[in-house]
Amino acid sequence: MDKCSFCGRDKKDTNLLIAGLSGHICDRCIEQAHEIVQEELRKKGEFDVNQIELLKPIEIKEFLDQYVIGQEEAKKYLSVAVYNHYKRLMQENLKDEEEIEIEKSNIVLVGETGTGKTLLARTIAKMLHVPFTIVDATVLTEAGYVGEDIESILTRLLQVADYNIEAAEKGIVFIDEIDKIARKGDNPSITRDVSGEGVQQGLLKLLEGSIINVPPQGGRKHPDQKMIPVNTKNILFICGGAFDGIERKIGQRLNTQVVGYAASREKNQIDRNNLLQYIAPQDLKAFGLIPEIIGRIPVLTYLNPLHKEALRKILTEPKNAIIKQYKKLFKMDGIDLHFENDVLDFIVEKAIEFKLGARGLRSICEAIMMDVMFDMPSKKDKEITITLEYAKEKLGKTNIQRLKAA
Ligand code: ADP
Repeated sequence: MDKCSFCGRDKKDTNLLIAGLSGHICDRCIEQAHEIVQEELRKKGEFDVNQIELLKPIEIKEFLDQYVIGQEEAKKYLSVAVYNHYKRLMQENLKDEEEIEIEKSNIVLVGETGTGKTLLARTIAKMLHVPFTIVDATVLTEAGYVGEDIESILTRLLQVADYNIEAAEKGIVFIDEIDKIARKGDNPSITRDVSGEGVQQGLLKLLEGSIINVPPQGGRKHPDQKMIPVNTKNILFICGGAFDGIERKIGQRLNTQVVGYAASREKNQIDRNNLLQYIAPQDLKAFGLIPEIIGRIPVLTYLNPLHKEALRKILTEPKNAIIKQYKKLFKMDGIDLHFENDVLDFIVEKAIEFKLGARGLRSICEAIMMDVMFDMPSKKDKEITITLEYAKEKLGKTNIQRLKAA
């Protein structure tokens, strides 16, 4: 009589007995073994840093293309920076006779709010399966002031890495609104500037790579917690900021730089409508970032403002485009959802009219879709089309100020 070689059950007591080369296994043992495997994999952490699959820059960009519309330049810079960053990590494991050290390629993305900076960083992290966190530079303060200490950035990273320090040390941190910690005013000797230069100095330690003692629970509420040393050497920092008004500084620089005959020709070729494309490190300095910080963020790129065509694509093209999400939600109730093309154009027009940008697309859609999302699941209809008339009516009843705040 055949038996399970693991639990010893007779074949007749099992639902299924599978024969191997020199033994058998029953269905129950297979299930149990599967659970053990799953548990072990979970324990190993979702972030197995040794398993990072290194895609080539072109492949990284293709991945970004699936989620982010336009922003070709930023995607290219980001792809190369990330590729080099992870090559650098791999190199650490190899013995290098020449001892050439590849420097870290922290990145700064400059662009209006809502143009995809966070989305780019988030998408990169999704692709790499590394711990990723977003921090807002505006809440950071120097130690001793009200606000969050710089170390709290790493606390967050540790938390998303499930306290797997090795994983956290290879994670990605997106520092949003980096422009808000710029030095106010051009005078560097100005008396202590709580929100500006002091924070930049603090941040410097993180960016350049050093061992930082991190409070695992964060904050100052747990004074007795044991600190965890985290090495930031291999953490990739992506910074983002709108740098309002930096175009003026770029313009000034371009004007003063260009002198002479050849230059005046060059000057005419400058596209004054989008000065951001000429951004250079010295503009960040003129804006109030300290040179040491700028030096630690060697990759500088920009995002374009989103015009009509881009917004229209954002509605329907990315892998998780808003319209696709609504369709999926309805599909789960067995309902086919359709939009008239005019409706999509209308949504884009309104987002532009109210200066809501890409973020506004979602709030406008919500305003239009709220009633159908409320009613449809209880109805018998298996199909619904959102018409322009309907969209106009629903949006007409919405308080635009509320959309702006969203
Ligand atoms: P920010 O530049 O302020 O960081 P976000 O990346 O947070 O902007 O963009 C806000 C939202 O707008 C995103 O979640 C996304 O839905 C949409 N969005 C913005 N830019 C793009 C883009 N280029 N492609 C696709 N969606 C975008």
